[in-house]
This record gives sequence, C-alpha cells and structure tokens, in this order.
Amino acid sequence: MSKVLIAGNWKMNGLTSDAAREATALAAGVAGVPHVHLMIAPPTSLIHPLRINLFERGIADRVAIGGQDCHANVNGAHTGDVSAEMIVDLGGSYVIVGHSERRTDHGEGDATVKAKAEAALRAGLVAVVCVGETEAERRGGETLDVLARQVSGSLPDGATVTNTVIAYEPVWAIGTGLTPSTDDIVEAHAGIRETAAGQIDDVANLRILYGGSVKPGNAAELLALDGVDGALVGGASLKAADFLAIAAAAPARN
Ligand code: PEP
Repeated sequence: MSKVLIAGNWKMNGLTSDAAREATALAAGVAGVPHVHLMIAPPTSLIHPLRINLFERGIADRVAIGGQDCHANVNGAHTGDVSAEMIVDLGGSYVIVGHSERRTDHGEGDATVKAKAEAALRAGLVAVVCVGETEAERRGGETLDVLARQVSGSLPDGATVTNTVIAYEPVWAIGTGLTPSTDDIVEAHAGIRETAAGQIDDVANLRILYGGSVKPGNAAELLALDGVDGALVGGASLKAADFLAIAAAAPARN
C-alpha cells in the first residue's frame, strides 16, 4: 500500500444529512482510489454519524475519520473542548492539531500544539500536525525559519512515522485559491523533513502533506512533487466527487 494520505477537513460545515449524502457518494467512488489512504475530519458533531454511515455502506475500512482538534487533557473543566480519548470513543483514528485557524482564532502556539499532539498519541490517534508561514513571513523571506521553529516546537515527544503526519499549509494559501510555486513547495517539504529528522527516526517515511487550495484541477501537479506524500484538503473535501478526484490524481508512493 502506498503511503499517500488524502485527508479532508470539513471545518465547521455539515449536518447529519450531509454526512449521509457524502457517505453515499464516497461509497460510489472509493473503489477507484485503492492506491491511497483516505481520512475525513468532519466537525465533532458528525464524527459518529459519519462513521455509522460509512459502516452501513461497507467502506468504514477505506475512509478513516479524524477530529479537527483535541484538548491536551483526558477530561475536566474545559467547556466546549473535546479530548483525544473522546474522538477515539466516537470511532476516530486521526486528529488534526495546530491548524492555522486554531493557531489564529484560538491563540494556539507551538507548545499548545505539541501538548495536543502528545494527547493524540496517548489516546492512540495519529496526529496530523499543521505548520505554515503567513503571507508576511513568506514576503520577509522567513518561511524556512518559521517552518523549522514550528516543526521542532510542535512535534510530540514519541513521534514516529506511523503515529505522526505533518501538513504543510501556508496560511495565505488556505481557502484563497492561491498556491506556492512548485519549487517553493518542494523546498518547504525538504526543510520540514530535515527539521523533523532531529525528532523522528526513518524520516524518509514520514508523511508530509501539502494543504492550501488543493482542487481536482491542480492536484496532479501538486501531488507529484518531490516530498509531497498527500494532501490536506479543506473546501474541496466538502464534495465527495472533488475529494475523490483529488485522490485519483495522486500517484502511488511507497
Ligand atoms: C485547510 O483548511 O486545511 C485547507 C487546506 O483549506 P483549503 O483546501 O480550502 O485551502
């Protein structure tokens, strides 16, 4: 099986009716993408409904489910938060941590992201750790320094190539239709892998996803790039047909 992971982030979108409809659409097309791993991170409210819908359509083993965030603690007085253990309890096997919308909207820094990623590993989830520079940082020539700082500060202790995935998501490319040049993506992924090598053994096998305005129309070019082991997809993951078209564009990669 190739190591390529195509992950969808539904963000704060979707009701139970959407979970049922998307599961039906995924079931119709998933046989066409046997060469990649698929994961969808719906809102917490849909983790269980989506899981049930995938089971009912016989594709729960083909489409993993993830949370979009988790608290660092197992439980306690943290109104509105969800723990990694709760995501596991609902049938999740991944969790995204450190998404730029969490870093910006909720003031999460690298230490918080690292604590959340460690909570994910404690619960048995795969942590998808997001890093990425802002537009000002890119313009200032700081991209590689920012990525190195975020990777070394956010990766959990105990990270391995099986329990941790990194997503490179330039903040300015998320939801904007903009993407970095292909050279810039290759350079960023190489820099991330070099930093991660200090913390993860066998780093050649670490999955580093690209995220930021991935669509069916640009997926083949982006996913063929050196060091790109899949994609984290926001807007285009909301329609199963687009999500599957992105997956279909991915080369198999071991
Ligand atoms: C994201 O939010 O993780 C993302 C990559 O969004 P989009 O694909 O919409 O740019």
